[in-house]
Amino acid sequence: QGNMLFLRSFMILFLSCMTIKINLCFPSLLSSLKTLPINGHFDFEHVHHAAKDFGNRYSFLPLAVLHPKSVSDVATTVKHVWQMGPGSELTVAARGHGHSLHGQAQAPGGVVINMGSLQGLEMQFHTGNFPYVDVSGGELWINILRQGLKHGLAPKSWTDYLHLTVGGTLSNAGISGQAFRHGPQISNVQQLEVVTGKGEVVNCSEKQNSDLFYGVLGGLGQFGIITRARISLEPAPEMVKWIRVLYTDFATFAKDQEKLISGESNFDYIEGFVIINRTGLLNKWRSSFNPQDPVQASKFKSDGRTLFCLELAKYFNRDETVGVNREIKSSLSQLNHVPSTLFLSDVPYIEFLDRVHISEIKLRSKGLWEVPHPWLNLLIPRSKIQIFAQHVFGNILTDTSNGPILVYPVNKSKWDNRTSVVIPEEDVFYLVAFLSSAVPSSTGTDGLDHILIQNKRILEFCEIARLGVKQYLPQYSTQREWKAHFGSRWEVFARRKSSYDPLAMLAPGQRIFQKAI
Ligand code: FAD
Repeated sequence: QGNMLFLRSFMILFLSCMTIKINLCFPSLLSSLKTLPINGHFDFEHVHHAAKDFGNRYSFLPLAVLHPKSVSDVATTVKHVWQMGPGSELTVAARGHGHSLHGQAQAPGGVVINMGSLQGLEMQFHTGNFPYVDVSGGELWINILRQGLKHGLAPKSWTDYLHLTVGGTLSNAGISGQAFRHGPQISNVQQLEVVTGKGEVVNCSEKQNSDLFYGVLGGLGQFGIITRARISLEPAPEMVKWIRVLYTDFATFAKDQEKLISGESNFDYIEGFVIINRTGLLNKWRSSFNPQDPVQASKFKSDGRTLFCLELAKYFNRDETVGVNREIKSSLSQLNHVPSTLFLSDVPYIEFLDRVHISEIKLRSKGLWEVPHPWLNLLIPRSKIQIFAQHVFGNILTDTSNGPILVYPVNKSKWDNRTSVVIPEEDVFYLVAFLSSAVPSSTGTDGLDHILIQNKRILEFCEIARLGVKQYLPQYSTQREWKAHFGSRWEVFARRKSSYDPLAMLAPGQRIFQKAI
């Protein structure tokens, strides 16, 4: 009883001290931020937006949101927090477009830097044999595309959705159907300007400050804030042949995908997805996709089956149409899809790249965009993809899916192993993305709890079967889990952290390191 009494008194004393500390600290923190010589401004009131993300599952209020007008605003703020030393609990998170899934761009009680305010910095396009563009870290990829098209140029590697920022995707990798040829977005960056965790503005590239350059690429925001990036470009095509064909078995589907990425065809984009128990599938596609042979297509019964859809794109200019049609016909004749299920559509390049935004508009209009998104993204070695598919699509997800499930292979040779991103060991690995949306407050198979249990079962299977899977857009909460994720690369990651962000102030929402206080 004596012990209990002591514990209670201790807890009361501890909580009182914490309250006094917060009360004493916050006004001084607020006033110290208010006096910083910056061109932009701090917002201490409208901070709720910075506590939200696409995942819609975690929400931590920051103390303040910085709307920087210049790179020096970012540097001044970070330097100020750095100079407060380890005694302060203040952390700093760059917020791109807030499309994280797990609170990664949030800073509980800290400073969130709204990188979008930096977008105003002008994009600078450089034409010539090796074109590139210099852009702000807060720039949206869709804006780079729109501006690039005015010069007849575009980045080589994309994400499926373009309303994301340069800094946000480069902190992960940036993967889409072009990655098999060009690598992820982090393989298409020539130079960065970074504000480190000490508030220093550093230019880096393969030749200059290369340790910081590679650390930041795929570095989950841990080593610095990307304020500027130089992105490689290529001539932009006018049009895209967008093709979908179906398979009834996974092995044939995957074999064709691997053949296509090995260089045996000249498609510009290769992805694929799984279709679980969706009736009337072909009818639904007719709005945007025309079957090559409508009579045969109508005889194909998709009802209740698990199907695999290969999605391809070939870029072309209008004056190349005849040649491209011939080329596509020849390439498709070497594939083993169900012949009657060939769907083709000619669309402008920008429409193809911005395709997910069309879905966003539809979902927003139905109130279905701002729902919880318990996404799970996995990178799976080629040698293990069959067993994964058999178990996951055959046992765990037999009759429901709550959103698209993407499956496509990429070539490891296009990834640079000096970057921070963690990938499987084999030459070819698959991205499998379970892009689920949960119906708020549902307790059924479309509810958050059910989807989280499914995700857990998938991860447990990978673990038990020792598939050598790595998470993409990784979500862990303990350092033990992070160490396991990084494996032999943990040492380098931790060493870079102590060099560039020694107080562990940056991107606390990733939950990898804790600020020393
Ligand atoms: P935020 O969510 O704002 O930030 C992400 C992380 O990066 C945070 O830790 C943040 O602190 C840090 N950060 C942000 N800006 C900077 C900066 N300038 N410097 C340093 N650190 C920074 N990913 C793919 O690879 N391929 C896809 O096809 C793809 N499709 C997607 C589709 C949708 C609809 C959504 C919502 C996401 C998709 N993603 C995809 C994932 C996406 O790449 C990541 O969620 C990315 O982080 C989002 O970018 P953001 O600008 O919103 O970043």
